[in-house]
Amino acid sequence: MVFTISLIIGIWLIMNSSKKELDAAKARKNFLLSISHELKSPLASIKLTFDTLLKRNLDKNMVDKFSLIALKETERLERLVNDLLLATRLETIYTPTFEPVDIVEITKNTYHSFKSQYPNIQIEFDCQIPKLVLNIDKIGFISILNNLIENAIKYSVDQPIIHIYLNSNNNKIDLIVEDQGVGISESDKKHIFNRFFRSGNEETRNTKGTGLGLYIVKQMAKIHKAEVSVKDNHPKGSIFCVTFPKE
Ligand code: ADP
Repeated sequence: MVFTISLIIGIWLIMNSSKKELDAAKARKNFLLSISHELKSPLASIKLTFDTLLKRNLDKNMVDKFSLIALKETERLERLVNDLLLATRLETIYTPTFEPVDIVEITKNTYHSFKSQYPNIQIEFDCQIPKLVLNIDKIGFISILNNLIENAIKYSVDQPIIHIYLNSNNNKIDLIVEDQGVGISESDKKHIFNRFFRSGNEETRNTKGTGLGLYIVKQMAKIHKAEVSVKDNHPKGSIFCVTFPKE
């Protein structure tokens, strides 16, 4: 009896650890494929833009248009490299700098910056309090905001409406980002905060990304002793909530 139970437990442990190994190998493969694509496509676009600018005698309007494309692609590369550096530093040497910051103001600034970057997307910001100073790591808080809003935009379809809320109650602050996008399956909800995790398969997927965004959100929330949760929006989409303690 004891032998049989030990054998079953042993087999279960081996299967469990080899499944974990396989999942990690799959995530690494997906990451390498996605990072290669993420690096290649903006570089190709920037190269093509400069080729066109050099070879053709374009008027000022066209030069401005092409320069803007190159600038946007360069910014995409910069965000990617920043995410990679931040994720690596979070694993090793990231030291947060806590300072008093008005989180209403930085949320509002981030919201305005997204609105001007994505004029065709309806983004709303709702906050009942005019000012709220918390002791936070500014880089960490901004990276939480950027990653959640970027995802809400990226995983939306048709005419998305995105809501950002900052709610203060008793001794907690909720930062909420709601979208009406593709939503997240119950099984994926368990994995989305893992490093390199992306839903689906890299060969068939058509959204850009590296699977680092929510990992950074989770780690930055942890640094602030904040909780991150995700639930379904109705009739469709997702709601991400980061709950910060006021102290
Ligand atoms: P990336 O967006 O680069 O793939 P993230 O770590 O930000 O990486 O997200 C991990 C995965 O979680 C995404 O690949 C996507 O499948 C899912 N996800 C994240 N945010 C959303 C969202 N707002 N709506 C639907 N799916 C999402």
